[in-house]
Amino acid sequence: MKQSLVFIPTLRDIPKDAEIYSHQILLKGGYIKQQVAGVYTYLPIGYRIIKKIENIVREELDKIGCSELLMPALQPKELWLESGRWDEYGKELMRLQDRHERDFCLGPTHEEVITSVVRDLVNSYKKLPVALYQIQTKFRDEFRPRFGLMRGREFIMKDLYSFHANDDDFEKWYQNIRQAYINIFNRLDLNYRIVKADSGAIGGKESEEFVALCDIGEDTIVYSDESDFASNYELHPLEEGASSPDGKGKIKHAKGIEIGHIFKLGTRYSEPMNLLFTDVDGSKKPVIMGCYGIGISRLIMAILEQHHDEYKVKWPNSVAPFDIHVIPLVKEGTEEYNLALEIYQKLLDKGLEVLFDDRKETAGVKFNDADLIGIPFRLVIGKKVKDGIIEIRNQLTGEDNEVNIDDSDSYKFI
Ligand code: ATP
Ligand code: MG
Repeated sequence: MKQSLVFIPTLRDIPKDAEIYSHQILLKGGYIKQQVAGVYTYLPIGYRIIKKIENIVREELDKIGCSELLMPALQPKELWLESGRWDEYGKELMRLQDRHERDFCLGPTHEEVITSVVRDLVNSYKKLPVALYQIQTKFRDEFRPRFGLMRGREFIMKDLYSFHANDDDFEKWYQNIRQAYINIFNRLDLNYRIVKADSGAIGGKESEEFVALCDIGEDTIVYSDESDFASNYELHPLEEGASSPDGKGKIKHAKGIEIGHIFKLGTRYSEPMNLLFTDVDGSKKPVIMGCYGIGISRLIMAILEQHHDEYKVKWPNSVAPFDIHVIPLVKEGTEEYNLALEIYQKLLDKGLEVLFDDRKETAGVKFNDADLIGIPFRLVIGKKVKDGIIEIRNQLTGEDNEVNIDDSDSYKFI
């Protein structure tokens, strides 16, 4: 795409209320725009990243047999009375009335809706298991919305729900989904730990959180320096240097951002909401459930917190808004500029996502903006382009590769 046509409204200064790096960059780089506290517009390059994250999530979940659907954000009070959460959920629930004074809420999560869907459409063990997910806007009237997309009042979540006839089947699926989460967070190039956690307002028996390690994180985790043991501090308040409960290694502390949460719900919703199925022997039983969330919009910040240096944003290849940034420093209308356009076209023909900086700006402005956009490969076109050799710089490694513009194998490393 031609950069002059992509709407990237970069700011000269960092807005004063942005306290953390990722929030500052997302505002300054023209990725997002705040509407009111905790509510944002995703601008074009921010939204490109969101869509890439979503697609990685889709690929990994579809691969293990989950199906995508889309449920309503607007949910009737009656369903929440059935689960007991209309009163339990408290002030975080965004409540509203329609013109007939019927009560509704804007969904902070969808256990009630999905349970009612499956209750009405599945009644036999023959139709189980089933795993359904959506990527959707959630609403939570957080006490303290802050750090931009980190704690929004309106945010994008992937929520998955699984339904099973027995514990063994549930356990098998739980492990498959846990592994899918590992694949997702690895593809997003995140440094994270899986920790035992408190189930909070969602309820159920047990849960595990995926926590991206990061100094500005709101959660404190305790983990062993020698084994896989890791837990939320609230659940295992172990001090640093103590022996790990599994007998292996010493306890360390780290700050982290919760990026995903998986729950063993058991029959927390199926019993009160009467989601029953007929088993092989003809008896009626409550369905065993699991639910699994990923904070899609929060992830963009977690990734950014882990992928930058003092001056540059360094998006991992898997989520970068474009694959390659072509920056001509030669005048429009010259032979060199036309060669730059040809190269741009060749890269497009190879199926790459290319951003071509066609703006009439100085090299300084172009480079500053490029550092904010953080595309992994950068191709700067100067006078030497006439010799048919160009240099592509890998922004992540700092490595330069000389490429012959006519050699089709040349671009393989991108
Ligand atoms: P937290 O403890 O951070 O409030 P939670 O336990 O309430 O999170 P879940 O109900 O498990 O969150 O939601 C699933 C995922 O959605 C979380 O792991 C997190 O990544 C994301 N998430 C939760 N609340 C918010 C929010 N207010 N803004 C952005 N993302 C959120
Ligand atoms: Mg919460």
